[in-house]
Amino acid sequence: MSTLLLRHARCVATLDAQRRELTDTSIFIRDYRIEAMGPAHDLPAEADEVLDLSGCLVTPGLVNTHHHMYQSLTRAIPAVQDAELFSWLRGLYPIWAGLTPEMVQVSTQVAMAELLLSGCTTSSDHLYIYPNGVRLDDSIEAAQQIGMRFVATRGSMSVGQSQGGLPPDVVVEREDAILRDTQRLIETWHDARHGAMVQVAVAPCSPFSVSRDLMRESARLARAHGVRLHTHLAENDHDIAYSREKFGCTPAEYAEQLGWVGHDVWHAHCVKLDAAGMGLFARTRTGVAHCPCSNMRLASGIAPVRRMLDAGVPVGLGVDGSASNDGAHMLGEARQALLLARVGRALEPFGCDAGPAEMTARDALTLATRGGAEVLGRSDIGHLAVGQCADLAVFDLRSLDFAGGAVHDPVGALLLCASAKARHTVVNGRVVVREGQLTTVDLPPLLERHNRLALQLAITALGQR
Ligand SMILES: [Zn+2]
Repeated sequence: MSTLLLRHARCVATLDAQRRELTDTSIFIRDYRIEAMGPAHDLPAEADEVLDLSGCLVTPGLVNTHHHMYQSLTRAIPAVQDAELFSWLRGLYPIWAGLTPEMVQVSTQVAMAELLLSGCTTSSDHLYIYPNGVRLDDSIEAAQQIGMRFVATRGSMSVGQSQGGLPPDVVVEREDAILRDTQRLIETWHDARHGAMVQVAVAPCSPFSVSRDLMRESARLARAHGVRLHTHLAENDHDIAYSREKFGCTPAEYAEQLGWVGHDVWHAHCVKLDAAGMGLFARTRTGVAHCPCSNMRLASGIAPVRRMLDAGVPVGLGVDGSASNDGAHMLGEARQALLLARVGRALEPFGCDAGPAEMTARDALTLATRGGAEVLGRSDIGHLAVGQCADLAVFDLRSLDFAGGAVHDPVGALLLCASAKARHTVVNGRVVVREGQLTTVDLPPLLERHNRLALQLAITALGQR
């Protein structure tokens, strides 16, 4: 048992149902949970570690609901810098075919380092390509080492080009092998308890890279084990056209036919989700991972987030893979969600009256915390209260990023000013970032190794052309 005392935070945004914001508040953490919150004189005066948070803002740890961490090795590749989704994928598949277990392990830690330093404490990852002996265990072990709460999703691709799919045949797997490995991973790693640090979800890559059968069998497997389902859906116009041509229906209808709606399902993107799809998702509590930077980078469009929220669809935020965002700053993603929602409304027909209130700073922070927790099916994270997991981010309101803003409104400044890095990040009661530095891995040698592997991966692909 260890204890941690955070004293005298200037502002604590609890993001509970009332979105309470407390001033001059201290937080006492025992082991992995918040044991007490309130004025310093009501809390124990001593702990194994005490951090003075005068002048700081504390938020719940941010929650990232969609990522492809291995893509950190293929950021800013010149040949696909200006491509839309399908040609971007076709350009990258041959490079990703060279991934090794070491590359997955190192790139996962680099992606997690970036997230942790931006105040993110829980992340999902969607690994859907398994060449050269790569296993999902490589990412899970990387997460355990760096100390991030992790929802590892077992992705897959089974329909290659020769069968009418998008990926080359060399990167697809047999469906029986996918299902067997997914079951092994659930039985080995999935923890359903309060405070779980590792959970596993079942995640065929997308309707254009797996069969109807695999979608159905994945849903059956997930429900037999009580784990969640995740995939990409309705990302752009080409995605909708593919669905109409191959399946004769919209992506949302396709999902419904295959059992891919429900409180245990979340879909990435949904940029092109129509009104009927939103109604279906709201009725069934099907979640959406909104990825604004990636949607802008690939010119996919603007997801109708306000309409989804008003309809009752659970929405969280995702940075998406590092090759279609290239910057996994979770707080920055929330800022982009706020800005993009306002642009989206401005582009609608004259007469719409929401304007900048389309998404407020507090709405964006809610998406990045409670919203993400709900989408991942977690009631033990996403807001700060006694009994909750001690996952939180601390931002220094006296730093340059907040100058002239935090004096008026710390929470508003957090989202509207340039996106700051966290001063401290606490995951499961453990200080994983202290004074802006990771405590669990040595970052410079990790980055050196990562960049060497990134180059090696690109050279391997060139050699096979
Ligand atoms: Zn994605």
